[in-house]
Amino acid sequence: MERKTILITGGAGFIGSHLTDLLLSQNHRVLIIDDLSTGQESNISQHFGNPDFQFARASIMNEVVLDRLASEADIIVHLAAAVGVRLIVEQPVHTIETNIGGTEQVLKAALRYRCKVIIASTSEVYGKGSKIPFSEEDDVLLGATSKNRWAYAASKMVDEFLGLAYHGQYGLNVLIVRFFNTVGPRQTGRYGMVLPRFVKQALNNEPLTVYGDGTQSRCFCNVFDVIKGLTSLIEHEDAGGRTYNLGSTDEISIAELAQRVILKTNSKSTILNVPYENVYTADFEDMQRRVPDTGRLNSLVGWSPAISLDETIAQVVDYERKRQS
Ligand code: UDP
Repeated sequence: MERKTILITGGAGFIGSHLTDLLLSQNHRVLIIDDLSTGQESNISQHFGNPDFQFARASIMNEVVLDRLASEADIIVHLAAAVGVRLIVEQPVHTIETNIGGTEQVLKAALRYRCKVIIASTSEVYGKGSKIPFSEEDDVLLGATSKNRWAYAASKMVDEFLGLAYHGQYGLNVLIVRFFNTVGPRQTGRYGMVLPRFVKQALNNEPLTVYGDGTQSRCFCNVFDVIKGLTSLIEHEDAGGRTYNLGSTDEISIAELAQRVILKTNSKSTILNVPYENVYTADFEDMQRRVPDTGRLNSLVGWSPAISLDETIAQVVDYERKRQS
């Protein structure tokens, strides 16, 4: 792809910072807006001083900064959001306002400068759907509005509707990516994500906290595979106006994941089953299974993940060991 200027909202975060590394290595210009609420400066500080890189520490609700950056951008990758189940349950107002208001600001700015936009969404929007695997055109089934976990899914659904509406009504080149469980170095366990939490617990020989009975399963995709899928969508001229699942189809139960992490770290840790009500509220609903159908992305750009879960665990262990030393 010819050299482009790409604005990444949430670029100091887990996925955003890896995407920044890749795009800069491909000779693109990268602008980041991030308020460091969940992102970290250390994820991007290796690029400070690079003339192709700019970092604005600001919220996406800051219209002036967002407008200035959008005016220079060809493409906006909108990753800034309130994410992580724990954050959502603890801060529902922040989640709803950031996710809906932020996307609105990004789309308005993109329209002013006719930027291509990629909006990050989430497999959470499939909710409690039980038809496996999940395809982009499937119906979605969310829980009651009294259960604030679903506020995240609903906020992201509004983002999707809004993005597709900008495409349909204004002809803006917008596409939606639904991320499934993405894992790898730089992910923090602070907001509930399971793999960095298990790895940290194992390295400290503490019990691994498996919520519920551990039979619930997920498909974990390595972030280096995920950013390759993302860049293929960034580059594709004709991907707009649609939604794409992006994730692995390799399923593993959380109990088995815990065992795998213990094995890989040679840890003395045991497994501790923690009832959901001890972690969240009594009415918390988890999803039992979540498997993507990635056929749409695969047939468009030929993407499929290449890195195994064992290799990913090794990368995360390596990262956490370095952080702890
Ligand atoms: N989980 C767990 N122990 C933890 C953190 C998470 O058993 O310390 C479980 C969680 O209940 C869910 C799965 O691991 O079933 C994946 O959680 P994560 O927050 O990483 O992603 P989610 O799929 O919920 O978005």
